[in-house]
Amino acid sequence: MSHDLGEPSRNLAMLGEGNTSARISDDTFIVKASGSQLSTLAPENLVECHFSKLLGLLEGKALADEAVDQALLDARKDQKAKKPSVEAVFHACLLTLPDVNFVGHTHPIAVNRLLCSKWGRIFAKRRLFPDEIVCCGVESVYVPYVDPGVTLAKYIKKEVLAYVKRVGRQPRVILLENHGLIAVGKTPSAVMAATLMATKAAEIFLGAATSGEPVFLSKTQVERIAGRPDEHYRQKMLNL
Ligand SMILES: [Zn+2]
Repeated sequence: MSHDLGEPSRNLAMLGEGNTSARISDDTFIVKASGSQLSTLAPENLVECHFSKLLGLLEGKALADEAVDQALLDARKDQKAKKPSVEAVFHACLLTLPDVNFVGHTHPIAVNRLLCSKWGRIFAKRRLFPDEIVCCGVESVYVPYVDPGVTLAKYIKKEVLAYVKRVGRQPRVILLENHGLIAVGKTPSAVMAATLMATKAAEIFLGAATSGEPVFLSKTQVERIAGRPDEHYRQKMLNL
């Protein structure tokens, strides 16, 4: 999944951009080490971390940068492993959602064109075509820009909880204003499908916006696709 997301021709992440994680057990997960590259990720660039140490950072008052660094180091199961990415905090949080075993975070050019424009929030909220609903859900979570790290993780948690309450479903895609995309799923295929389809949807959105106003599916049309048994069958066959 990391190599697929980091594949240069996909334009999802370059150099040290993006990170990935997977749940290993109820207590631990693996996450990309700070400074490593998705396209060439090797076992030594992964760090196994305890959920509890990182989830603790989401409670209580904000810590100084040095204290956060120490908490990231303390979260490692093997104290000789590399330091986890600071984004490990939101990975820990998202891997505790029901049916989420894998998380992929990237900075796709097509998606960031919209997230760095006035269109970001509406791209998250509305849908343009049926396969976007099948792979990315009825809506995406939208998180306004905040400082990356623990603050961002806190806002992601807050916006995901608000989404679940309002929409009544678990999200598949989380969009971060002026930053990038997070896809969550039960399988690596689900994370890939959500990432690639969101990227395709962003390209279509921009094309539609450039040729006038995008024509969105109505709420009824979106709900119809999300509830259709044949679409559920397709999701199952695609391992989503
Ligand atoms: Zn990022």
